[in-house]
Order: sequence, then C-alpha cells, then structure tokens
Amino acid sequence: DTDTESNSRDPTSLRTPIVAVLGHVDHGKTSLLDKIRGSAVIEGEAGAITQHIGATAVPLDIISTIAGDLVDPDDFDLPGLLFIDTPGHHSFTTLRSRGGALADIAILVVDVNDGFQPQTLEALDILKRSQTPFIVAANKIDTVPGWNVNEDMPINATYDAQSDRVSSRLDESLYKIIGNLSDEGFSADLYWRVQNFQRNVGVVPVSAMTGEGVPDLLAVMMGLSQRYMKEEMEIDVTGPGVGTVLEVKEEKGFGKTVDIVLYDGTIRADDTVVVGGQNDPIVTEVRALLQPRPLAEIRTESRFEKVDEVGAAAGIKVAAPDLGDAMAGAPVRVVRNRSLDEVVHEVRAELADIAVDTADEG
Ligand code: GDP
Repeated sequence: DTDTESNSRDPTSLRTPIVAVLGHVDHGKTSLLDKIRGSAVIEGEAGAITQHIGATAVPLDIISTIAGDLVDPDDFDLPGLLFIDTPGHHSFTTLRSRGGALADIAILVVDVNDGFQPQTLEALDILKRSQTPFIVAANKIDTVPGWNVNEDMPINATYDAQSDRVSSRLDESLYKIIGNLSDEGFSADLYWRVQNFQRNVGVVPVSAMTGEGVPDLLAVMMGLSQRYMKEEMEIDVTGPGVGTVLEVKEEKGFGKTVDIVLYDGTIRADDTVVVGGQNDPIVTEVRALLQPRPLAEIRTESRFEKVDEVGAAAGIKVAAPDLGDAMAGAPVRVVRNRSLDEVVHEVRAELADIAVDTADEG
C-alpha cells in the first residue's frame, strides 16, 4: 500500500562530491592531482575521464579500476569525485557555496619528511572553521631512505615489500603527523584503523610520484562520501542551476566569461542567470556554455566546444554579456521558471554573506 510513496530515489539525482586539495607549499598538492588525473586517463577508455573547466571528474568505474579490490562499484551509488584543479587555501576560502565551503570534502597533503608546516596549520584551521570533512595524504613515502618502489600499488602491498627498517622509519613519520593532528584537536589514525571518519581523521600514506597509496586515497574519499555525505549529494537534477564563480576570464571571440562550478541543478544554453558582481547582482542571458575540447580534437579553431546543458557537479565556462563586474567566489543562479526578483534577492544576500566572512578574516 506504500508503493506510490516509495522512498527509493533515482540514483541519477546524486551528484558528484566536490573535492579540494590543501597543504603547505611543495608538499605535493599539484603532483597528487596530476597523478590522479594521469592514472584516470591511463585506466579510462577513450572519453571516460572528463576534463571540466577548472575541475576534473573521475567517474566511479575509473576509481574502481584504479583502486582495484579496494572499491567495488556495486557498493556505491555516488557517481564519482570532482576534483577542483586549483589547489591551495586561496581557492578553498574564496570558493563558497551557500552553506560554507564549496568543497564537500578535502585532502590535506603533508610531506612525510617535512611534517607540519605553517600552511598545514592554516589549512587545518580553515577546514575546522568550515567544518569540511577531510583526510590527510601523508605524501612522498617513496623518499624514505631505502624505499622499494611498487608503482600504483595499494599501501598494504607496498608496505609488505619494504624492509623492517624502512617500514618503521615510515611509521615513525606517520605517527608524528598523527601526533601533530592530535595537538590541533583532531583525533587521527592510520586510515585502516579508523572506524568512524566523522569522528577521526584518516591518514593515508601516499606517493604522488610513484602512485603508491593512490588506490587507498581514492577508496577512502569515495567511502567517506558515500557513507556520510550521500544526503547532501541528493539534488534536483533538472532544477535551476546554482554555482560559484571560479574565475573571470577574457576569452577570444567571447569577451568576458565566467568559469563556474555548478553544485546544484542544471544550466542551459538559453538560461537567464544572475551572477554576483562587484556592486550588484548582474542579470544576463547565457550566450554559450563552453567545455574544453578533448585534446585529440583540438585543431586551430577553438579550445572549447559548446554544449546545450550541464548538470551538477561540473565545472563550466559561461559566456554572456555584461560579465565585466563578475567576481571570483561570487554566487551564480539560474532563473528559469522562478521570479527574477527572488533570484536577484538571493544572490544579493549571498554576496552580503561573503562580504561579512571576508571582513572576519581580515
Ligand atoms: P605543491 O606546491 O604542494 O603543489 O607541490 P608540488 O606538487 O609542486 O611538488 C613539489 C615538489 O615535490 C616537486 O618537485 C614534486 O616533483 C615533488 N613531489 C611531489 N610529490 C612527491 C612524491 O610523492 N615523491 C617525491 N619523491 N617527490 C614528490
């Protein structure tokens, strides 16, 4: 008798969690993103990995291929992970969504040799204040003297292949990081000992250079998202899009454009949108939605291809008139069948919130 009120949800209404990478300079943020992208390209059949504007989507089937036994795709209904391509605090703090941080989840990269550094502490503080769930990637494990490299292997396999001396050196560094986290008020442990990732921070030993531990990193991110963030990922897939401006850019043939990360709903090539501006919300009509053209197809014409519609979570370039005043970090909302006044009001309120937050930080 409850058939008509079935609670089963259409899995396509679950969006990809948005992942940010933070950490001290030179600890390996860019290398880690490159490694994940690179592995995804190698594992993917043609077109499996999708390069977005400002972000990289790694679909569940590719994660499962990279992670092997650690990720059984049948255990998940989230579609994958969307990595923001620009690592670092700046992009993390400027990129907000209505609830706080734009990123749903973060990776804090710490060099195992260098340990905690000033920007590691800053990043922790930002994660704490924004209440963003995160894991720690204890990076550069391949630099432990005597390390025996096992490319792209899960951590337990490569651990087993190390001498006792080497593995205890690594353990020492890892426990130092765990101790530092505890000093900052985070209860942490090696990820395979963590039962509840909401209460404890998991530490994943990795090498962005050799790919060791990357299967574990992806598996933990995927597991944490599926277990604790599924409800937040439920979106109205056909609703009016909501996003955040990553960057404002002049683009040949298109004038001023905004690169946005869409975290809810869809944006279409004929939508009216409201974009946060320096002074007031900008109301404008989308002229084109642009995605990077796959590398193989790049000829002399354009680096971009036009698409009719994009659904969250995604990175997309929006070409539209009057974007001169648009700001990085500002909200973007699709009007569609809603009242324009109401949407302008929402964007204005979000802009006011951003101004207050920025003042707090200064
Ligand atoms: P970022 O400033 O945090 O983005 O750090 P980068 O990714 O630019 O890395 C800084 C340096 O560390 C570069 O020379 C990288 O090649 C090197 N590096 C990063 N990850 C690893 C790693 O896992 N192992 C080794 N041996 N070197 C690494």
